[in-house]
Amino acid sequence: MRADLVHYFSDRRLAVRTRLWRNSVKLMLLTFDVEDWHPLADEWVYGFRTTPSGRVPLQVDQIRRVLDSLGARGTFFCVGSTAEAYPSVIRSLAADGHEIASHGYSHTPVYAFSPSQFEADLKRAHEVLSDLSGRPPIGFRAPQFSITSATWWAFAILVKWGYLYDSSIFPIRHRRYGIPGFDRYPKYIQAAGRTIVELPLATAGFCGVNLPIAGGTHRLTVQGLDTAGVFFKKPISINVSPH
Ligand SMILES: [Zn+2]
Repeated sequence: MRADLVHYFSDRRLAVRTRLWRNSVKLMLLTFDVEDWHPLADEWVYGFRTTPSGRVPLQVDQIRRVLDSLGARGTFFCVGSTAEAYPSVIRSLAADGHEIASHGYSHTPVYAFSPSQFEADLKRAHEVLSDLSGRPPIGFRAPQFSITSATWWAFAILVKWGYLYDSSIFPIRHRRYGIPGFDRYPKYIQAAGRTIVELPLATAGFCGVNLPIAGGTHRLTVQGLDTAGVFFKKPISINVSPH
């Protein structure tokens, strides 16, 4: 887990945020991407994925303790291959009432797939997560927020597999992802004759520009949690990736 998030989860800060939660927040969607970041980062650096790091159970447990202290439940977007490596983590999250949603099987960005390859990856994760949690996931988050205008076709595949909502679109301008100008708040999307809800990643509007406040790599995340809790009047989706 990153140092600033460790600080965020410290007891003193948690007490402050607990008061904010009880006094100010009407609805907050807390989502967490469960992925073994180090093998993924090794792939970027060395060109291949290393073996599971073993860090996932401890980091997920830290998040669970915070949620328990708030009486809150969260949505965990789980990578299928990570779920296979740590099946007891997924089983116990589901048993505690947390939602298990899909983050794909291999954590491959949608734009690196053809539609048929994307469907195969989605199906594999769907089956793993259904088996471990006891129910099929209904929510999806694309690795690296990779549903963009160029990969809009993914929605037709998601509705085909019964997904009711997606949380992949970042309404910002970014070199690898994002749809600038997309709504900052939940909206319905029509795909293949069906409807799916899009819960865009949280942003803060500032001087006409959308600033990212969700996402494990954005430095505004921690401040964003405060901002979202205090100032936003509509539901937004915040996510934190334990590293
Ligand atoms: Zn991810």
